[in-house]
Amino acid sequence: MKFIFNLLSKGICGQNFFELDINRIPPKIYYTSKKEMKRMETLFNRLSLEVYHSLISNNPDSIIFLDTHGNVLDCNKTCTTMFGYTLNELKKLNFQNMLISNSKVTAKRLFIKTLQGESFTYQVSVTHKNGHILHLQVKNVPVNDNQKLVGVMIVAKDVTDLVKTRISLYETSERLRSIYESSVDAMDVIDLSGNVLLVNSAFEDLYGWKLKEISGKPMPTIPKERMNAMLKMREKLKKGIPIKELEVICMRKDGEPFMASITISPLYDEHGNVNAFSGISRDISRSKQQEIDLRESKDRYKSLLNASPEPIYVQCKGVIRYINESGIRVLGYSEPKSLLGRNILEFVHSDSKKIARDHIQHTINETIIPKEKVEKKMIRADGSSFIIEGTATGIEYEGEASVQMIFRDISERKMVEEALVRSEEKYRLIAENMTDLVAIIDENSIVKYASPSFITVLGFPVESIEGKSAEDIVISEDLPTAIEQFNQALRSTEPSETEFRFKHKTKGWVWVESKVSIFIDEENGKPHLLIVSRDIEERKALQEKLEFLAFHDELTELPNRRLFQEKMQQTLSEAKRHNRKFALLYMDIDNFKWINDEFGHSIGDELLIMFARKVGATLRESDILARQGGDEFTILLTEINKREDVLNCVERIITCLQQEVQVGEFIHNINSSIGIAFYPEDGVIMDDLIKHADQALYKAKESGRNKYCTY
Ligand code: GH3
Ligand code: MG
Repeated sequence: MKFIFNLLSKGICGQNFFELDINRIPPKIYYTSKKEMKRMETLFNRLSLEVYHSLISNNPDSIIFLDTHGNVLDCNKTCTTMFGYTLNELKKLNFQNMLISNSKVTAKRLFIKTLQGESFTYQVSVTHKNGHILHLQVKNVPVNDNQKLVGVMIVAKDVTDLVKTRISLYETSERLRSIYESSVDAMDVIDLSGNVLLVNSAFEDLYGWKLKEISGKPMPTIPKERMNAMLKMREKLKKGIPIKELEVICMRKDGEPFMASITISPLYDEHGNVNAFSGISRDISRSKQQEIDLRESKDRYKSLLNASPEPIYVQCKGVIRYINESGIRVLGYSEPKSLLGRNILEFVHSDSKKIARDHIQHTINETIIPKEKVEKKMIRADGSSFIIEGTATGIEYEGEASVQMIFRDISERKMVEEALVRSEEKYRLIAENMTDLVAIIDENSIVKYASPSFITVLGFPVESIEGKSAEDIVISEDLPTAIEQFNQALRSTEPSETEFRFKHKTKGWVWVESKVSIFIDEENGKPHLLIVSRDIEERKALQEKLEFLAFHDELTELPNRRLFQEKMQQTLSEAKRHNRKFALLYMDIDNFKWINDEFGHSIGDELLIMFARKVGATLRESDILARQGGDEFTILLTEINKREDVLNCVERIITCLQQEVQVGEFIHNINSSIGIAFYPEDGVIMDDLIKHADQALYKAKESGRNKYCTY
């Protein structure tokens, strides 16, 4: 079955082939037999049949031939791509069935009209085989055969993108006005020379300028030093290139600079020429400060790790993300790049792969492992293996669940342990040269042997230890732990491990990590315990410091934002479960910048510490005070019954802050504005409560500072 167009009769013959447009092809179509085609081919010899076919099959629009019932008879390639159906599938479908319901009535009416010999152009929406809606501009053309109408040709252009744009433009213009006015972001429109045409009320609030003061004048929020860069940007904008989320310093009316994120887009007139610029600006000084704080605390964390004599590595999903100098050395390498980015399993001996894989799995599942003691066999750069012992802690490293491992090489100790268990004579020699504390106690906990390192580590001479009971050398608080460990070792063949404190001659105690193994004394056949302990004071201090740093603010030692959010989440869940109330206070010290500028940063720091202490002193044990960063603090007031409880507490804080404080030679006033959000009235999720307390704080600042406001 072939279709050809009666092109010549409508005067298309003689036109450039490439200029032919299917939409302009005249409506008369002839359905021809082979014989007829042959006749026409000769007749219209200037356009070969192949050209017609090529015109149909390569047309960028879909061309479908329908019979008088709307059944598909034939179509071109574009059509199968456009609708996702093969020709055979289309043949089984009536064209009506592809239309979405809104389009069905119109399409049917126009189909019937086309069968009466008229041609129509209209829009319909159809469903693609994959379920997407396509918007089409359709032309119905009647197909005649020997003056008899035999079907309809449909030429369909995909105008989906166009329709979508039109819909969104319509919606945009409808909404634009209300967005502009109700936007919390400052918005402005300036002309090509940079003069203000329009600003919204959020702009007036943020910058302090009223529209009537700046209308028609150059935008006053751009600092002088940024003017040249701004002029260059405007040149780009004129070419239609928008500027997105540029972080720059802007200036308020009172001359105060702040960090803003600005987005500027060109606006066009009806001829498509840029005739103005529209800007959106947002104050990001607070989030910038938080970013700096976070970076600083990360840097502090890293510098602590770097300086640590204990080998430390951090792995995330098996990849070594960090390793300090000592770690590199212990593994037999000389520079970090030989290890960073490599899989930790490459350095773990096959005997210990299981535990290493467990740790990796935790980081993959993004679960933070609880602190855990581990012993692993590792492989050095030269291929030799050695044993490490350490503490694995789940941490968040650069935003990802990771495992931090503080470890040390215990091969030497292992060797001694094994030698001792085999009662080799040489054990004394080795033990006596070790820095670890080696002791042997009998089943009654009497010290039979103590290595010379006891003198260096604990300050007591060996003679004063040998013959004593464990009670004499372990501090009383830790005695139950130590005895339990000894008993456990006596009951099992597996060595047991724990941490406790030995008495120290002058310092009171020394934290040690001990490993206790049982062995039978060859002389009397009785069980004895071998205790190998190591001074972990430094490691303990480091670990505590790291743990503290991760969750506290170094200056005020208050919980930091992270810990606060964790506590708040707990408080929220408990409040939900037990139907309790609580309140969140958001505080920001008033005019703190001025204090810094006037008296210097270190006085500012002192005052922050004083402030934390003073506020903390007004709170109860159960309340949680935290530093969010900069001069911002938050308080969770738990266990409250009614709003007045909170307001009383807030008033107590404000009153206590009225008392002046002396730092250095000056007497200072540190006041704060406070925003309050109540659970559950002002929000039932953390983000909402924080946002609302912050908004209330903003109100308190607006209404003159040194005040509180509720949301
Ligand atoms: P407002 O009354 O509106 O709060 O004004 P403000 O001057 O207090 O301004 P803002 O709260 O925005 O600024 C807080 C200032 O606190 C900015 C920064 O210079 C200072 N700051 C932030 N962190 C520290 C810090 O650790 N030590 C010291 N000394 N100053 C800090
Ligand atoms: Mg402040």
